[in-house]
Amino acid sequence: MAGVVLAGLASTGWGADLSRGPHKIELVDISDEQRRILDQTFDQMKALQPAQLGIDGRLYRRLTRFETLFGKPFNGADLEQWVLARFRKILYGNIALAAINQNQGDLIVSDLFFHDISPLERLYLLVHEARHSDDDGYPHVRCPKDFPFVSAAQPRQALDQALACDATTDGAYAFQAALLFELFAYGLFDQKNVGLIYNSTVARILRPTK
Ligand SMILES: [Zn+2]
Repeated sequence: MAGVVLAGLASTGWGADLSRGPHKIELVDISDEQRRILDQTFDQMKALQPAQLGIDGRLYRRLTRFETLFGKPFNGADLEQWVLARFRKILYGNIALAAINQNQGDLIVSDLFFHDISPLERLYLLVHEARHSDDDGYPHVRCPKDFPFVSAAQPRQALDQALACDATTDGAYAFQAALLFELFAYGLFDQKNVGLIYNSTVARILRPTK
């Protein structure tokens, strides 16, 4: 009985929501500071705008995949809504990764997410995790035995045979890469850094786009 009462208190007393536009996401065990970081991250996402292309137009048209994948042209306000629609809850948890999407929309975030990764990494990670809410979740496949790439963000993790690759061109890494490509093309954030992360992300997609 006591458990029922406590559960009732927890849901009304601590149960905070992240309300942004039409979307309301339940926050579980998220501190005020963590909530501020989440809000800042979504503010930053919403503010993304295409401006002057910082790369050759032909190269842009050849490699852009944003509209094909997301269904709308690159625009922060639409991207924010696309991401928010794919999360039901955001929960704080003690996990080894920065973030993991469980049960198609329950996003668990750790201290790594809030304190060890950059604002840019938080942006593309949210897009990556959001894609795991669609369809069958687009689970990763093992990278090949002879995979020549390293994990720049997690240098201690060897990628050969790790579940850190995609076998299709419409999974979480494809969506992450599509966002990174727009950020690179429009020179948002540090262009060289974004370009390197884009390349590294594309390396995780085992079947290249035709
Ligand atoms: Zn993933």
